[in-house]
Amino acid sequence: MTTIADRLALAQRRIAQAAQISSRNASEIKLLAVSKTKPVADIEQAYAAGQRCFGENYVQEGQLKAMELAQRCPDIEWHFIGPLQSNKSRIVAEHFHWMHTLEREKIARRLSEQRPEGMPPLEICIQINVSGESSKAGIATQSEMFELASLVDSLPNLKLRGLMTIPSAGEGPRLEAELSHMQQLFAELKLKFPQVDTLSMGMSQDLELAIAKGSTMVRVGSAIFGERNYG
Ligand SMILES: *Cc1c(COP(=O)(O)O)cnc(C)c1O
Repeated sequence: MTTIADRLALAQRRIAQAAQISSRNASEIKLLAVSKTKPVADIEQAYAAGQRCFGENYVQEGQLKAMELAQRCPDIEWHFIGPLQSNKSRIVAEHFHWMHTLEREKIARRLSEQRPEGMPPLEICIQINVSGESSKAGIATQSEMFELASLVDSLPNLKLRGLMTIPSAGEGPRLEAELSHMQQLFAELKLKFPQVDTLSMGMSQDLELAIAKGSTMVRVGSAIFGERNYG
């Protein structure tokens, strides 16, 4: 039987190999361990194996885990990667280090206002709906991306870090075209905002292709923690 530590090591090897194939430095690519629906005991195992960045999709679940692990795993970096309703934004502002799924100005303003004094700025990625599927969240156009990025850049308690996407499922030329489009948007955003350094793209199934297309953060759930029963 493989352990969480084994599977983490395997995910790191996949990242290193994919980086090498693209002549990239593996140290440019962060592994975000997506622990949604999984118990804190699993997070503690990954933490013991050296993992520090964890992604959660559900606001309250993430809050409970962050509170429960605050003492035992003090230097965890929590990333919110799910859809966010404005009435729950305070929880993200108070308990997370990163927010990957920003798509609305109203939420940006609330997160900045609600970020507690004394905490560093909330690190922000703007979610892009690169496939155009109506089931997917995210903004659709380059001009909207620049508008929202300018707002984030101007808000005192947010820090613009880059872009995030969930492409269409499956493989093939469509997926490749979507990831190439993200690579291009990322390059354009970086030109205008030099602090931008994060392209959050790639999951258990497609992390190799995402890295070939410039991803700097892959979000890996099932390949580390096993299949989920829900979510
Ligand atoms: C669940 C989830 C992941 C991880 O997906 P796996 O296929 O289990 O690796 C990554 N990103 C987001 C936004 C998710 O919701």
